[in-house]
Amino acid sequence: MNIEEMAAFCKRKGFVYPAAEIYGGLAGFFDYGPLGVELKNNIKSAWWKTHVHNRTDVAGIDGSIITNPQVWVASGHVANFSDLMLTTKKSKTKVRADQFIEDQLKVPADGMSAEEINNLVKEHKLKLNGEDFEEVKDFNLMFETNVGPVSGSSAYLRPETAQSIFPNFRLVQENARMKLPFGIAQIGKAFRNEISPRDFLFRCREFEQMELEYFVHPNEVNKCPYINEVKDVKVQYVSAYMQEKDEKEKSGTIAELLKQNIITSEWQAYWLATEHEWFANLGANMKKFRLRQHVSTEKSHYAVDTWDLEYNFPFGWKELQGIANRGDYDLKQHQETSKKELSYFDQESKEKVLPHVVAEPSQGVDRAFLVFLFDAYDDKDKRGFTVLKLHRTLAPYKVAVFPLLSNKPELVKKATEVFETLRDQTTVFFDKTGAIGRRYARQDEIGTPLGITIDFDTLEDGTVTIRDRDTTKQVRAKIDDLQMIVMKYLQGASFDEIL
Ligand code: ATP
Repeated sequence: MNIEEMAAFCKRKGFVYPAAEIYGGLAGFFDYGPLGVELKNNIKSAWWKTHVHNRTDVAGIDGSIITNPQVWVASGHVANFSDLMLTTKKSKTKVRADQFIEDQLKVPADGMSAEEINNLVKEHKLKLNGEDFEEVKDFNLMFETNVGPVSGSSAYLRPETAQSIFPNFRLVQENARMKLPFGIAQIGKAFRNEISPRDFLFRCREFEQMELEYFVHPNEVNKCPYINEVKDVKVQYVSAYMQEKDEKEKSGTIAELLKQNIITSEWQAYWLATEHEWFANLGANMKKFRLRQHVSTEKSHYAVDTWDLEYNFPFGWKELQGIANRGDYDLKQHQETSKKELSYFDQESKEKVLPHVVAEPSQGVDRAFLVFLFDAYDDKDKRGFTVLKLHRTLAPYKVAVFPLLSNKPELVKKATEVFETLRDQTTVFFDKTGAIGRRYARQDEIGTPLGITIDFDTLEDGTVTIRDRDTTKQVRAKIDDLQMIVMKYLQGASFDEIL
């Protein structure tokens, strides 16, 4: 399935639409439909659960989208958050330069200088629709706006969530009574005026991020106390050195990668493995994942080391999540620009220190959304129609309830009672129209794991049929046991174990 087919599927089923489609949409903006909003919320809750609620060393925040513009001066976004843009001489059509070079010449171009791009354009006589290009230009990706009814009061829509974490570092540390090492997490919208939005949700202009800044004592940047928890995690990887040698990805455990100095920081290895396992535990196809180290030309000037978690999309291996080691760059910048102290008082040494961010897992919600849909989509099932094998934690609806016949009020009444029994526990879809086979198919296509049918026997003996989406296996169970059955299923028991 290619990305256009995925976009069509999402629209047909009510996952995602082009924004305000009746007006022709707007490039790079999307509206999430009834199923999309549920799936997206489930992805965000699953991330929050693993990264915040299940840990004692991470606190969350929800920062504002528009903030004091000095934040973006300090972070370097005002000066540097730009992509190189090529503009055609006659029609002034604009394309993102590195992507255009990559598409045309099949060479990696991320991080190329303006001069390198100009030279390549000249050398290969590159044109767009027969037109020549002007000299390449910088284009800042931040959306600018005014605050209040005055012009010239510039502010920006945040291009990432991470930067609202640093200015709040001291307050959060004190309020949540955090001791190093600890993290601050945030989920929220980000906006980038991408020159060439494309590949559906992969590159949009409004998207969401799930980000975490993990702070450690500057003397402890190499020792991660949790490393043993992940040492056996097996990953595919491609290091900067392997990319220089044009080698393909290899596989190895986190312990092996650290031993061979392929990943040099235990903390970064820990977070890379943790992020990899987050996807694995939610049913992603891990054969399509790899860790890729940034080569020297791509790395931000302040980043100590950066690895991406990549996914093999239908349009190739692409960044799904970036996991940078940012050192003390951000706290230092915000401290200098705001003239407010952002250091941490170490009770043991009685010293003030500026913590280092050893890892900044930065995951796009919309890219994760695509990955889970690609991996769940199964159109080869013997049923002859698409089955969306989403993990039960992510499925928009967990249970569907069907009265066998819609024109029998006593069946509809009983089914409504079942719906009301379960609705406080989980998301339940109630469907009384159409042949029962068609109703099962509709739920299979949107990934509902359990189907419950109320028939004439239900009225006699209080039992219902429960059907498993993945195997189509059906069993009878008592209505009185349904809450217990659904609870065990949602906690992870298999279909056979719950009955
Ligand atoms: P790319 O090289 O693909 O432009 P990036 O390196 O600029 O990405 P980061 O700044 O590291 O991306 O952003 C962190 C994460 O946010 C990315 O890994 C991705 O999941 C998500 N993200 C970034 N830009 C977009 C976008 N335009 N649309 C959707 N998701 C995005």
